[in-house]
Formats: sequence, structure tokens, C-alpha cells
Amino acid sequence: MRYRSTRAAAEQPGIELGAALAAGLADDGGLYVPAELPNIAAIDPALGLPAVAEHWLRPFFADSTLASALPQLCAQALDLPLPRVNIGDQGDQVLELFHGPTAAFKDFGARFLAACLAALRAPDEPTRTILVATSGDTGAAVAGAFHRLPGFRVLILYPDGRVSARQAHQLGAFGDNVHCYRVDGSFDDCQRMVKQAFRDEALRERCSITSANSISLGRLLPQATYYAHACAAHSAETGADCNLIIPTGNLGNALAAMLVRACGGPIDRIVLASNANRVLPDLFAQQRYQGRPSVATLANAMDVGDPSNYERLAWLYPGDSLFSAGIEAEAVDDQQIRQRIVRCYQDFGYVACPHTACALELLARKRERGDGHRWLIAATAHPAKFETVVEPLLEHGVPPPPALAALLAKPSHADPLPADYAALRAQLIAIS
Ligand SMILES: *Cc1c(COP(=O)(O)O)cnc(C)c1O
Repeated sequence: MRYRSTRAAAEQPGIELGAALAAGLADDGGLYVPAELPNIAAIDPALGLPAVAEHWLRPFFADSTLASALPQLCAQALDLPLPRVNIGDQGDQVLELFHGPTAAFKDFGARFLAACLAALRAPDEPTRTILVATSGDTGAAVAGAFHRLPGFRVLILYPDGRVSARQAHQLGAFGDNVHCYRVDGSFDDCQRMVKQAFRDEALRERCSITSANSISLGRLLPQATYYAHACAAHSAETGADCNLIIPTGNLGNALAAMLVRACGGPIDRIVLASNANRVLPDLFAQQRYQGRPSVATLANAMDVGDPSNYERLAWLYPGDSLFSAGIEAEAVDDQQIRQRIVRCYQDFGYVACPHTACALELLARKRERGDGHRWLIAATAHPAKFETVVEPLLEHGVPPPPALAALLAKPSHADPLPADYAALRAQLIAIS
């Protein structure tokens, strides 16, 4: 399989997967996409996620420097629990994607990307710094994936005071090769500083820096595998293609589901649940894309005004085909998030994080409108990571899962950093 930029002409030969992974973003500023969409035969989900993943990723890894490593990559990075929990009495299920080491779906992508970059690394290469700005979940997943991995270190920037107490503790608890900085500014400041580092040629000659953000193919491809697995299992039980509702920010998770459907996976409708950042609902309502600044919400990992994977959406569904592709999007505001967390607990005894609550709110709206389909709801983070939102609403504690509890029991340290690129640059040089 060859990979081409979303901005390149279709005749372009493209590059192999290992080169696309190492590059991250294409030279022309576009995102890498596969040159073809393979038709992938069904496989028995009872074989487990690593085996299903290997089957699904084989065409995407064909003729790449990583092809022979694929079985090992899947076994090492993707052997995580993937439970589906019944909710209500109409056959709906919650697909819990948060049973990895840092309790968010981003563990799948970050672990797979880390395993790929480690497999691609030449033994004599200098240590690489994975530079990441985070509003909470990405930084922890990336830190967890690269923690103590020889040849790599991680530098995380997060906005001080704007992530939950448990998220902040988690980010600073890894230690060793993970350097954590709390920035006196917003997430946008953190992201601006990171982008500036990648544009700083003089810096890049002195230190080897790599991105791990959600536009990397190394995160997108493994995310497709859990939909391939869960949708096959769900549709075997229901006898119908699967209908999905997915909490959405940068569109990485939802795009993985669309990729599975485009390759013949058993998926019918795909519903995107947004928070008050309405860029995708407005796209479908007005048939026109207009990125904008983000607004802060309770579902902060979805506070995105201009989704970085939008170019891949436009590639997969060119022109107006997006509007007849069985995809819809709706927005959920903070008050509705709060109410849905409470109602889900009262009605089903299910505790949802604020992101998952957006998807569960759209399910409730569907039921109110008389929709009779069975839905699979993607649950993107464990509610215990958003204790500052969830616990006061439910009026009781939400205990962290074991992996998160283990991190919370460790000491945590983050250095303060001004929201200023010169300060980041000095730190990068100091740790290199
Ligand atoms: C990152 C994240 C999302 C949004 O996923 P995208 O791939 O950016 O659309 C939703 N929920 C949680 C908990 C997340 O961490």
C-alpha cells in the first residue's frame, strides 16, 4: 500500500507506510491517506482484537518496511480489553474503549504508534523527543506509551489549572523519560508553542523532535481495528450492520469507523456527537465547512473548532457525497451533558464521562424521535478521569480503574513554564 497526501494529485506515486509514519504530516501540509481502499473480508471476532487487527491492517502494511513486524505490533500494542456493556432494554450497547493504561481510547493509537516508531528506529539514532501539547488525554496516552521506551523521551505541555486534578496528577506521575510542564496559558498556547518548535529549523538541527498528534497514520489505523472487531461482534449478535454514535473532536476516532465502513466492515449509520463546538453539525446543516476558534466545555477533549482530520473526511467523501453518506452530526451543550450524566445513572445505573455523555444524549434524542435501531455508543474515557464534573452531579465518588489508581498513587511532578516559545526551546535544548 502506498500513502499520498490529501493535497496531492491522484497520479502521484506516494510513499510507503514507514516513511509516512516517520514524516507525520506530508511535506505539502496535507495528511497522509492510503492510495486505495482495500475490500477486507470478514473475520471471526472470537479470535480476539490482536488477530482481527492483524487481518485488517495487513493490506495497509503490505510492501512496507513494517510488514513483517505487523503481528508483533498488534500483539504488543492492541491486546487491551474491549467490552460492550448493555444499556437500556432496546438492545443498545456501550463500547468501552477506555480499558488501556491511561483510561482513554487514545491508548490504542498511542501504544501502536510507539511500537511502530520503535520498530522503525535505527540502533545508532540519537534519542528522539516526542513533543506533545495536551488538553488532558493525549498527553497521558502518549506518555504511557513511550514511558521507559529506549531511544525516546516525551515532553508534555498542558494548560495549568485547565485539566482535571486526576488528569494533572496522571500526566506528572510517569517520571523517568517523561518530562511534564504545566504552562501558564491555554491549550491553544501549548499547541502554538509545539507548532513553533516543529517550524524551528535551527532547533531541529540540534534535537530530534517528533509529533504524536491525532493526524498520525500510526494512530488512525489501530483505531480502525477496534471498530472492525466490535462491529463484527455486534452485528453477529443483532443480524444487522452496526449503527455507531461517536463522541467527536478532531475526528480521528470517527474517521477510523468511516475507514472500516469504506473497506467493507459491517457498519451502517455513523453519528458524530459534538459538544458546543458546532463545526461538524453546522457542516451537515449548511453543507459548507467553516473552521473557527474553539470554546471551552465540560467535554474538554472535544474542544476543537477546526478538526485536524477534516481533510481526511473531505478525501473519503469528495464533493457533496459527504451529505448522502449515512453520516450525521449533532451538538450537545454543557447543561445537556450534565443532565445526561445524571439521567444515565438514574435510568441505567451507568456512569458516563462528559464526552461519552454527548453520545448518550444523541441516543436519547433518537429514542424520543421514535428511532427503533440498535445503537453502539463509543465510550471514550473512564468517568473517574473527569471526577470534577461527574462526582458532584452523582453525589458520590467514582473510583478510578486499577491502572489509573496505580498512577494516582505515585508522586507527581510538573515544572512550571511560561506560555512563551523561548522557554520551551530552552527546555528542549536542556533535556536533549
Ligand atoms: C480525544 C478525545 C475525544 C475526541 O476524539 P477525536 O478523535 O479527537 O475526535 C473524545 N473523548 C475523549 C475522552 C478524548 O480523549
